[in-house]
Amino acid sequence: MSNQTIFVSDIHLCESRPSITNDFLNFLNKITNQLDTLYILGDLFEYWIGDDSNQYENIIRAIKVLTDHHIKVFLMHGNRDFLIGSSFEKKTGAILLQDPTLAEIYGKKILLSHGDNLCIDDIEYQSFRGKIRNEVWKNEFLKKSLSERIFIANELRKVSELYKKNKSEIIMDVNSDEVNRILIQFNYPDFFIHGHTHKPKYHSINLDGHQIQRIVLGDWYEHGSYLTLNAEGIKTHQV
Ligand code: MN
Repeated sequence: MSNQTIFVSDIHLCESRPSITNDFLNFLNKITNQLDTLYILGDLFEYWIGDDSNQYENIIRAIKVLTDHHIKVFLMHGNRDFLIGSSFEKKTGAILLQDPTLAEIYGKKILLSHGDNLCIDDIEYQSFRGKIRNEVWKNEFLKKSLSERIFIANELRKVSELYKKNKSEIIMDVNSDEVNRILIQFNYPDFFIHGHTHKPKYHSINLDGHQIQRIVLGDWYEHGSYLTLNAEGIKTHQV
């Protein structure tokens, strides 16, 4: 069945976890005849140090196979791979989306996001995010040599692990007022799909008389999962 849209996020591809790369390549190969559109909602890669880095040419080729088959592939930045740029788009045929983006798919209004913007209770993370997600920091970083960039990326991962260590799950989860605020801003979509928290779940929200489902996608650490949307509805699958 090709009249189907598939959503994934938080694959966190990393050299030290080759089995995830295999799972994801098999997944892309398997779905080729089963979809018309693929949304990758952030953190496809554990880290991305620039399009000139020659990282993951196998993944780039596999995405290109999909777009060569006239499958639309949309990509959103995650907090780990926010340096994916226009060369990556050209090489893969994928299209980068703003976070958040409102899409209309099979007659449903669907709000899409990576999700880290929703975690506003984590003040330390949001301040760190602000520091590295501005154009000045990004340009300075991309000017450095590849080995310097790898060093900095590893340092940032260490900082991020340290941040997470002594923090409660509640602080690192989405803030429900912020979720409601964005749902109102986007005029009460039918679905809100995001990742980032690695807490896959369907949340039913009743907001000002509107029924909205917030669907959190799972990560691929233990096993891959993905969400399908077609005329029959929405469903989670394990790889
Ligand atoms: Mn993330």
